[in-house]
Amino acid sequence: MSGNSVQFDHKPNPAPMPAVQRDALLANPGFGRVFTDHMAVIQYTEGKGWHSARIEARAPLQVDPASAVLHYAQEIFEGMKAYRVDNGSVLFRPDANARRFNASADRMSMPQLPEHLFLQSVKKLVEVDRDWVPSQPGGSLYLRPFMIASEIFLGVKPSAEYLYMVIASPVGSYFKGAGGPVSVWISQNDTRAATGGTGAAKCGGNYAASLRAQAEAIRNGCDQTLFLDAKERRWVEELGGMNVFFVFEDGSLATPPLEGTILPGITRDSLITLARAEGLTVREERYSIDQWKADAASGKLREVFACGTAAVVAPIGRVASPAGSFTIGNPEVGGPVTTKLRAALVDIQLGQAPDPHGWVQKVF
Ligand SMILES: *Cc1c(COP(=O)(O)O)cnc(C)c1O
Repeated sequence: MSGNSVQFDHKPNPAPMPAVQRDALLANPGFGRVFTDHMAVIQYTEGKGWHSARIEARAPLQVDPASAVLHYAQEIFEGMKAYRVDNGSVLFRPDANARRFNASADRMSMPQLPEHLFLQSVKKLVEVDRDWVPSQPGGSLYLRPFMIASEIFLGVKPSAEYLYMVIASPVGSYFKGAGGPVSVWISQNDTRAATGGTGAAKCGGNYAASLRAQAEAIRNGCDQTLFLDAKERRWVEELGGMNVFFVFEDGSLATPPLEGTILPGITRDSLITLARAEGLTVREERYSIDQWKADAASGKLREVFACGTAAVVAPIGRVASPAGSFTIGNPEVGGPVTTKLRAALVDIQLGQAPDPHGWVQKVF
């Protein structure tokens, strides 16, 4: 029942959104508020495996109030984008998302979803909802695969039933007033992840735990929260949903290492590869907040940027905490290395540059 034998049933939405209405939404979709006509669904039952794969009309779920996910947060997700290229559409490294999804599933005691099912579900949804892939510059179709524990049981144990789904949302830029540097607030009391915890898993619980720190950042006039390590409160980890890079005066880069408390970003990995291909040195090493401040003051640190699928690459111009704030480079514009790496990545994603690593997969 699991594996290659799964067939997707296609039940078209009987009342898709009229084109005029859809195009009006696509003109200015914002982020994560507009959704397409369909969704992909695959069910899992212990002893039976994955079954009932289908593409159907996007609709509210019937969830029993005793569903395990509502109580113990057994939930994981992915985030990826389909880009419009010429008259078709492409995905960027979807195989890496499929692998990371299973790594997250392992951490949360959830079943492994065969990679080909993950890829098929995403590609079929993009194909069916092809008219929803934005064509304006900077636009894309954000895809959200996720899995929830759906067994109706209040005992604490891994669920015996799961629902895997993919929904799709046409998006513009992640940050309002896109392009300019963002400011970050150093979370004072809350940490994001500790050794042995779930920091490397893409699970909803990590986000729930980050919201208070994010509210603190906003209250203090900053865009995003920067988390330090849970033990020494000294080493830079990442933002709530983005990895961080530092660019030094000698042209080298550094980014915090993947030691279990940081989410292994696919954008992070891609940028390391691209930077090295440009002949730049990239170190995966710990960097302290004190060093950051000192290097920003001395001029040794030239640029800092955050990266992730949603925002791609966002320069960081200012760091704030109760001790005061400091800026990096010109806080009004991103630096040249940031700009160059962003362009190198986006050019591959949009098919405007050769793809030597085979990262781009055509959907239609
Ligand atoms: C998803 C995510 C990232 C970025 O990962 P990408 O694969 O580059 O999108 C970074 N940090 C956290 C906490 C995340 O959830």
